[in-house]
Amino acid sequence: MPAPASGPTLSVVIPMFNEEAVLPLLVARLRPIVDGLGTAYEVVAIDDGSCDTTPVILERLRREWPQLRIVRLRANAGHQAAISAGLARARGSFVVTLDADLQDPPEVIPEMLQIAREDGVDVVYGVRNDRSTDTAFKRGTARLFYWGIRRLGALDAPQDAGDYRLMSRATVDAVNSLPETNRVLRLVVPALGFPSAAVGYTRELRAAGQTKYPLSKMVRLAVDSVTGFSLAPLRFATWLGLLGGLAAFGVLFYALVARLLDHALPGWTSTVVIVAGVGAVQLLALGILGEYVGRMYAALQARPSYFIAHDSLEPSSGGSAARD
Ligand code: UDP
Ligand code: MG
Repeated sequence: MPAPASGPTLSVVIPMFNEEAVLPLLVARLRPIVDGLGTAYEVVAIDDGSCDTTPVILERLRREWPQLRIVRLRANAGHQAAISAGLARARGSFVVTLDADLQDPPEVIPEMLQIAREDGVDVVYGVRNDRSTDTAFKRGTARLFYWGIRRLGALDAPQDAGDYRLMSRATVDAVNSLPETNRVLRLVVPALGFPSAAVGYTRELRAAGQTKYPLSKMVRLAVDSVTGFSLAPLRFATWLGLLGGLAAFGVLFYALVARLLDHALPGWTSTVVIVAGVGAVQLLALGILGEYVGRMYAALQARPSYFIAHDSLEPSSGGSAARD
């Protein structure tokens, strides 16, 4: 959906799921910055089916902050789907996406906007040049993630660029037009290959509240990233099969020699090891295949990855479905 001529210059899309603790802090820091830009803007808060007082606080904030727009999803759809909902709804000529927890400092927004305007680039990535506030576990898994993605897909995704970025209208329209579900935006956007720049920033501590990203969601994101961008795991399965075949030849040769030399033993241990080993490799290969088949299944079903319950810009909207 191209931005209507009346759209603001900047949309700030913020997904939030049970962020009651951090919301007042976010507004206190974000508002002076966007007010000081001197351009028309909207802040699109995507309430990702929060079950705490986030919607109440948002409604209260909106009364004294007309540029705040609330888009509520009917059910929790997840971080990436919530951002996708925001991108589909945002009207700005430029769209910035950032997390609600102030780990992405909003002070960088003016710099991103300036670079986009002066250098004419389509994407300005926020790159975390200091993650010392993240836990060692988060840093380690993140490093593994970006390393793995680069190795598997040879992608040009900037190291340590999360979902804090500015996108031009053309980029947002391009992302919105992609049909895939379960998209991982931090990979989809670099894959477009549009002209880009980067701004370094220091990753701060979550200002309040708990992380909404348990290990299970991190694993899901990693699997979606790999299967969405690379066929390498399928090739890995093929290579495993080839190696298994070679090993089988070796064992066959050994068995024949043992038979000829009359050394054939009852062979329980070797049989069990081979059966268990081959079984494990087969299951692994099936599992890898299953991930891709699952993605195709989801793509065929084409179910929306989120449902909009309410958009404060369209007070009458009662529950339109929107596709990711
Ligand atoms: N979030 C969301 N839906 C979810 C999980 C998270 O909208 O199902 C939002 C969350 O409110 C936050 C952002 O996504 O604004 C990033 O989540 P979080 O900060 O908890 O992740 P972490 O920084 O710990 O990886
Ligand atoms: Mg966070």
